[in-house]
Amino acid sequence: MSILAGKRAAIFGVANDHSIAWAIAQRFRAEGAELALTYPNAAIEKRVRPLAESIGVECVLPCDVSDDAQLDAAFGALRERWGEMDALVHSLAFADRDDLKGRFVDTPRQSYHVALDVSAYSLVAMARRAEPLLAPRRGAIVTMTYLGAERVIPHYNVMGIAKAALEASVRYLAWDLGETGVRVNAISAGPLRTLSAAGIAGFKTMLHHNAEHAPLRRNVTPEEVAGAALFLCSPAAAGVTGEVLHVDAGYNVMGM
Ligand code: NAD
Repeated sequence: MSILAGKRAAIFGVANDHSIAWAIAQRFRAEGAELALTYPNAAIEKRVRPLAESIGVECVLPCDVSDDAQLDAAFGALRERWGEMDALVHSLAFADRDDLKGRFVDTPRQSYHVALDVSAYSLVAMARRAEPLLAPRRGAIVTMTYLGAERVIPHYNVMGIAKAALEASVRYLAWDLGETGVRVNAISAGPLRTLSAAGIAGFKTMLHHNAEHAPLRRNVTPEEVAGAALFLCSPAAAGVTGEVLHVDAGYNVMGM
């Protein structure tokens, strides 16, 4: 039987067919889930709508996560459409390109604020709105993080700080939402060629370095990350919450 048959999942963060969220959406559909996808602006809407159509997703909603009114509207629409849901995938982040090169110490106040707001606070804002929909079915929330939260990755800069806040948020949300049976976890993915990754100076070097030094001697694929998201949103992970699951070909365990 399909693992997510009869389940409903809202997936935030498809920008194009390279997005990690897109791999997750495809996998969740293949496992029988009904989906909702979102887009933050008209340019991304143009790419998301045909992708949604290609996998039979009818529910496509606007939602810039830095705007409380848009968050209210998106979760209001989900409540109206579904009443209850099973999974929420938060696969989004933003930092100004200028802040993903050079020295972290030069990060301007406004850039720091925006990166933390869109990339970390949004999970809290979404979890609060999703909890009443998820709780009756004891659902799951999954977000996407990166090793730059734990270690210094040159050029990752303010995004590393945002991911550290995101991972700490996962733990605090796991405690709060655990009371209603909702699980909250993160996947720490190895580097993948996506639109967001293209904004990080020296990203190709990161890819090569990871592939050379990871125990599996290669990089991961979006499909492998999607498999981990499927696990975390499935009953097989019923006892897992507050966790950061590394899907990085093992790179994070290496010391030298
Ligand atoms: P991507 O560019 O395909 O996805 C990023 C998404 O963030 C886009 O869909 C974009 O629309 C969305 N977004 C940005 N600002 C937004 C806003 N204000 N409101 C709503 N959505 C907004 O890139 P990706 O690599 O698939 O990124 C997905 C997640 O995975 C991010 O959290 C990223 O940090 C994380 N991640 C990526 C890698 C990698 O190497 N690509 C590795 C580890 C973690």
